[in-house]
Amino acid sequence: MATPPQRLAEMRRWYYHLAVLAVGIVVATLAAVDVIGGETGWKLPVALLIGVPLAAIVARFPMVMDRGYGGIEVGFDSCILMFLLCTLGTGEALLVWSTGVLLTQILARKLLSSTAFNIGVGIVAGALAAWMYVAVGADHRGTPRELLAVALAAAAYFLTDYVLSGLSVAIGSRTSLQVQLLQRGTLLAIACFVPLDLLGYLGAVVARATPWWTVSLLTVPLVTLLIATRAVTRGREDARRLNVLFAAAVRAQTLDDRDAVVAALVDDAAQLLRLHDVQLRGTPPGDGEIGVEVQLGADAHWLTARSLNRAMSSAAADEQALGALAAVASDAVSRLALTTEMVHVARHDPLTDLPNRGILIDRVTEALDDALRRGTRVALLFIDLDGFKPINDRYGHAVGDDVLVEVAERLRRCVRERDIVARLGGDEFAILLDDIGRILLPEMCERILAAIDEGVRVGVLDGGQHVPLGASMGLAYGTGAESPNALLRNADLAMYEAKASGKGRYVEFTPALGRARLERLEMADDLRTAIQAGAIDVVYQPVIAVSDDSVVGAEALARWRRNGVPVPPDVFIPIAEETGLIVGLGRSVLNRVAADTVAIRRTIDGDFSVGVNISAAQLRDPAFLETVADAVRTMRGTQLVLEITERQGIDLDAEVLATMRAITDMGVVFAIDDFGVGFSSISYLHDLPAGIVKADKTLSAGIDSDERARALLRSVVAMGGTLGLDVVVEGIERDTQLAVVTADAPRAMVQGYLLHRPMPLADLLDVLRLERQGARR
Ligand code: C2E
Ligand code: CA
Ligand code: CA
Repeated sequence: MATPPQRLAEMRRWYYHLAVLAVGIVVATLAAVDVIGGETGWKLPVALLIGVPLAAIVARFPMVMDRGYGGIEVGFDSCILMFLLCTLGTGEALLVWSTGVLLTQILARKLLSSTAFNIGVGIVAGALAAWMYVAVGADHRGTPRELLAVALAAAAYFLTDYVLSGLSVAIGSRTSLQVQLLQRGTLLAIACFVPLDLLGYLGAVVARATPWWTVSLLTVPLVTLLIATRAVTRGREDARRLNVLFAAAVRAQTLDDRDAVVAALVDDAAQLLRLHDVQLRGTPPGDGEIGVEVQLGADAHWLTARSLNRAMSSAAADEQALGALAAVASDAVSRLALTTEMVHVARHDPLTDLPNRGILIDRVTEALDDALRRGTRVALLFIDLDGFKPINDRYGHAVGDDVLVEVAERLRRCVRERDIVARLGGDEFAILLDDIGRILLPEMCERILAAIDEGVRVGVLDGGQHVPLGASMGLAYGTGAESPNALLRNADLAMYEAKASGKGRYVEFTPALGRARLERLEMADDLRTAIQAGAIDVVYQPVIAVSDDSVVGAEALARWRRNGVPVPPDVFIPIAEETGLIVGLGRSVLNRVAADTVAIRRTIDGDFSVGVNISAAQLRDPAFLETVADAVRTMRGTQLVLEITERQGIDLDAEVLATMRAITDMGVVFAIDDFGVGFSSISYLHDLPAGIVKADKTLSAGIDSDERARALLRSVVAMGGTLGLDVVVEGIERDTQLAVVTADAPRAMVQGYLLHRPMPLADLLDVLRLERQGARR
């Protein structure tokens, strides 16, 4: 859009053009009056008939001089003027010339302002040339003086045209006239111009001396010169356009936003056309304008400018170059769009379109900086879904993905627009809340938990199936004193604590929590070393048949001494499970047990079974089948029992069930451990290919004092009987408990401190030896 000062300059330019035109009209009128007043011969009509169209034709081959604001064209049509001056009376010559100028400009169909100016300039310059010719050489026809007069007339013509045009550019572009005039190439232009105009004089000399038609021979050098000029001019213009295009193409690669591309496009176009008022707009070019369509992303725009004050051939070339500029710009815009998209993809989770960890860390960094400056706090929530894995395992990844998308939406709904919800991977999310002064965080946490706790519908049959889902959350505050990663780790630790203390809740981070976690990590490191070193010991707790007090088997229990201090299995087993160390630990226990049975077999020869605890993760370990097969081979004759607990909620998917069946086929028996706590369900008992059920010690604890506990034990025993499972009752510490089991479950087996504590292999062998001796007695 033209700025107000620019519009003012345009107006001034208009007035200037009108003034020049006015002077031109006065001159032309004087010439006409002079001609009408005098007597005219046959020459005038002939000159009008031939000279006018010839001038118009020659004018079509101008020389373009590189100037700001559209450039200046210098026509060579003035050589016709020279011819006229030397062959006609001054008035006649000017009249013919003025008519020629008029025709030329009307044919050129430029902007009204330019046409008016060009007519004025043509006539005024012609008049000054005529004056110069008359003043210097009119009376010296056929002498060198006349030649000088013509040369001076040509120079006068050129300079008048040049100065008046320069003034127009200076006014229009608000630059000084001096700048416009003192430009390179001016001398060259005069050097071309004057000799060409002398051709007109040559024509006059020929016409005077020889029959009039011989003048036509001059068309040969004239045409040659015009074509050469045109070629030079075009070559220069093309080189200039190419330079602009090349610079634009190079620059386009370095621009990094759309606005910069648009600005560069308008700039380059202005440079190409040498015009100020290039526009990029939604509408196509109107009257007196040229333009090309530009594709900038989805929408099309038009790059428009005023029609050029120049010959039509170069206008076409300009338009073509504009088209190339437009292509460069739309290319740059699509490249930018692609880059933006790539950045988005790299910074967002493709499934939920939430920001990823990278963005989260950036935002946390900013928020912490802010908090430090303003003395406020930010809150970071770390969210891990409870029960997502079973959904993924049971219903497949497509359903799992849908659930994650749904969760992402619910999380977004729970927080404010400004808060950042990010997906960290898997079923982990994080929420950054800055400026928490106004929100009640406990309420927000509860709201989030409730939103996830609704569960999800999966599957399409009958409106889908409702599947439970939950979330464990950790909350950490930041003041800016900590690093973003530390804040994230704190929230993670708190989440971890929420999981450990029962899931489906949120826990706020405390430094003590961090220390406990650190301690766990160190312990995990030591445990890994111990497993690798084969330093995990195994103790055995005998299993007794109630019916005859005989030792029918033993349960193997892992033992670990850390720096000489025993660590309870209830501590190190969960750590092993979390860290995946349980697979290696379980393998080492199983191998040890297999080896130990060789000694057991040397001690006794009857039926004997050894129970080994395994974890769910082991059932998913591809190498587990092989480990079990090896153990079974080594143990020959001794029954291997694998105890699995439902505490961790074994997912009975096809893979796990297939593994269990393969193991059962090797003659191994599964025992359901810790039955009666947690998630016990009868269907679970039914689904597992198990042969033994072990009633948990919390179940047996009250059987000798609480009638309801005793009833519960009875029902477990009955159920085991119905399903064809052997029953082991754990945790027998008192005679009274044993008496109850003997009365209510005479075919059961028992395990407990009353009978034997877990013991090293050597002690177990003693027990077995003693028993054998007792049996013999
Ligand atoms: P569990 O499988 O239920 O093992 C029985 C636990 O009850 C053992 O604890 C045993 O010492 C304890 N116990 C035996 N009799 C009594 C009693 O009369 N009263 C009481 N209060 N407790 C009794 P322990 O050895 O501390 O093992 C704890 C748990 O660690 C085990 O529970 C088992 O789940 C796990 N565990 C032990 N070794 C292994 C292992 O090699 N692999 C796996 N995956 N888990 C193991
Ligand atoms: Ca057990
Ligand atoms: Ca148990």
